[in-house]
Amino acid sequence: MTTIHWFRKGLRLHDNPALQAAVVENYELRPVFVLDPWFVANSRVGINRWRFLAQTLTDLNTRLQAVGTRLYVIRGKPEDVFARLFKEWDVHKVTWEVDTEPYARSRDEAIEKLAKEHGVKVCCKVGHTLYNTEKIIEANLGKTPLTYQGLQGIVERLGPPPKPLLALTSLPPSCTSQSNSPSGPAYDPPTLAELGVKESDLEPCLYPGGETEALARLDKYMERKSWVCKFEKPKTSPNSLVPSTTVLSPYLKFGCLSPRTMYHRLAEVYRGSNHTKPPVSLMGQLLWREFFYTVGSVTPNFDRMEGNPVCRQIPWVRDEKLMKAWEFGKTGYPFIDALMTQLRKEGWIHHLGRHAVACFLTRGDLWQPWEDGMKVFEELLLDADWSLNAGNWMWLSASAFFHQYFRVYSPISFGKQTDKHGDYIRKYLPQLKKYPDNYIYEPWKAPLSVQKAAGCIIGQDYPRPIVDHDIARKTNLDRMSKAYAAEKNKNPPTSNGSPAKKKKK
Ligand SMILES: Cc1cc2nc3c(=O)[nH]c(=O)nc-3n(C[C@H](O)[C@H](O)[C@H](O)COP(=O)(O)OP(=O)(O)OC[C@H]3O[C@@H](n4cnc5c(N)ncnc54)[C@H](O)[C@@H]3O)c2cc1C
Repeated sequence: MTTIHWFRKGLRLHDNPALQAAVVENYELRPVFVLDPWFVANSRVGINRWRFLAQTLTDLNTRLQAVGTRLYVIRGKPEDVFARLFKEWDVHKVTWEVDTEPYARSRDEAIEKLAKEHGVKVCCKVGHTLYNTEKIIEANLGKTPLTYQGLQGIVERLGPPPKPLLALTSLPPSCTSQSNSPSGPAYDPPTLAELGVKESDLEPCLYPGGETEALARLDKYMERKSWVCKFEKPKTSPNSLVPSTTVLSPYLKFGCLSPRTMYHRLAEVYRGSNHTKPPVSLMGQLLWREFFYTVGSVTPNFDRMEGNPVCRQIPWVRDEKLMKAWEFGKTGYPFIDALMTQLRKEGWIHHLGRHAVACFLTRGDLWQPWEDGMKVFEELLLDADWSLNAGNWMWLSASAFFHQYFRVYSPISFGKQTDKHGDYIRKYLPQLKKYPDNYIYEPWKAPLSVQKAAGCIIGQDYPRPIVDHDIARKTNLDRMSKAYAAEKNKNPPTSNGSPAKKKKK
């Protein structure tokens, strides 16, 4: 008989409660990852994230081989795959990590039903969040916390999250691959070609996928004790040439890194030292993650405006031309365009950079629906995460959680605060490289002679601003105030909709 551990997220051997639950009985362990060709062809996953996944699966396979088994990557739809495996592999039990996203929930319900029909036991364990999000809501008397402070109060009452489990370093001999176990290249991790990625389209890889890389990156940052203890998110820079935050997000997204491992490593670094506190501290960042996971796990239509009870209904006006200009870094605002270029090339931008481009697209300048921006992020981010992406887009568009819509980021002065010479812009928009400092954020203001000397004529080699920020800002503030007033008249304030104080992230 065999036990299947089904990897989906949680692509790691350390602190993996569901994987450990697969080796408590002495049956052969068959670790499986299901690759659905339909999903490969139709999902919103950009080439950088495909590469990250391919690297992650290869690393996972290597790590599993080191403990005496391997990863079986099985091509097909999960329902078809498991119907076949339950029969052919004489499966006794299947284990997986809890996934709170709506698509995953319905997929898992279907597999659970199938398992029952085949007499296969199912065991699901929480591993992707610090706490079981159901327990957070239970501890709040069944009410979803809709503010960060609310979540923080609950987790303080719950105490620290469980200590991480030790990494699986060896398997009992009965659980390792046997001489008659299936083998061969048909089960190998996918190549880039199989994932539809042309290698020539890829930029050099800055953040390789996999648990090995995740743990090394965590170690590297945890060694910087003073930096960790002094970390204040609002003081980190959106446009430094070397990331000013950890870039652990892609690893947390795929579960190459356990959030509990990170939490307890931070607690160790903090021990005995003065350190910053949530919401601005590094540990506070993990609580932001927990907050959006908790709300996302129970809110209907969390990734949409309509039918989403926590989201304000705002009459955005779709305009394909504006949307495309933003998406492809052609708005004529160098700070915004540099950020969107970095995002497309590298798959990651700093949190405050995300603030700037999301505000610009929605309530700040272009008045486009946050859902459309979220979909572009979903494609381009290495860390694209259903709950975090939707939650943060609602925040930035002042649709939920954050209500001070009159605080608009300037696409000109915001970036200057941390990069007055515009080095970041010069890196990502080399056509503007020769602009003098005083025009780099507003190149359209440069006299023609300066434009010529810099070798970049505005309107020809780089776009003119797609909107006038001062005018757009005023128009949109007026639209926002009307949308807020209309909501207030429609719904009396509730715990979901009452104004909350601005929190520093
Ligand atoms: C519009 C918008 C969309 C976003 N979409 C995503 C997304 O799809 N996936 C994603 O992981 N993050 C998203 N974020 C949150 C945040 O920008 C990233 O988590 C962070 O920039 C990742 O970089 P880091 O790992 O260096 O963060 P660090 O500052 O080093 O933080 C450590 C970890 O804490 C978590 N975290 C930090 N900030 C937040 C936050 N605001 N909300 C939730 N978790 C947080 C992340 O897991 C992060 O890896 C979004 C933010 C905005 C404004």
